[in-house]
Amino acid sequence: MSNEAIIFMGPPGAGKGTQANNLCKDRELHHLSTGDMLRDHIKRETDLGKQAQSLMDAGELVPDDVIIGMVRSKIEEMEQGKTRILFDGFPRTTAQADALAALLDEFSIPLHCVLLLQADEEEIVARLLKRAVEQGRKDDNEETIRNRMSVYRKQTQPLVEYYTEKGNLKEINGMGTLDEVYGRIKEAL
Ligand code: AMP
Repeated sequence: MSNEAIIFMGPPGAGKGTQANNLCKDRELHHLSTGDMLRDHIKRETDLGKQAQSLMDAGELVPDDVIIGMVRSKIEEMEQGKTRILFDGFPRTTAQADALAALLDEFSIPLHCVLLLQADEEEIVARLLKRAVEQGRKDDNEETIRNRMSVYRKQTQPLVEYYTEKGNLKEINGMGTLDEVYGRIKEAL
């Protein structure tokens, strides 16, 4: 299978992680989650992890250059001609989106589409509080969740327009059962 990129966007708690796993299996995509990569750095106590930790705990974004550098090295590690990637939680700012466009161009990876998973805010907060109990994530408390929503609205929401203008954004209703939502994703692709 040839190179392909899909971007998975949506507010925190819209269910991106779970749906991303399904999609990666079906389409043989490599799941590139910047949040997972950062949590791995924190676990391994790297310098990058130490730098990111307090920002993540507060629900703020990690600086663009750190994130872009991390994504670039991940793409470089992949086998040329087999770079099939689902970007989850990246890009989150216009600067990251511009950097991604340049990277995709450099590595000849066509952007298939941008999936925007939408869900209602109260439903999202409830889901994230449930995840906090199940997974013990430090940034899943109500105060941080509200801040992550506001960061999403201010810094990431502008990308909806950015990709709508490019003509490859597809909006998915994220409410309903996992199967229902996944059905809508498959239909959109
Ligand atoms: P996530 O697992 O995608 O919800 O990300 C958890 C946290 O990691 C976010 O609240 C940010 O602090 C940080 N993070 C993840 N991805 C990015 C990104 N693309 N840009 C900046 N910060 C990020």
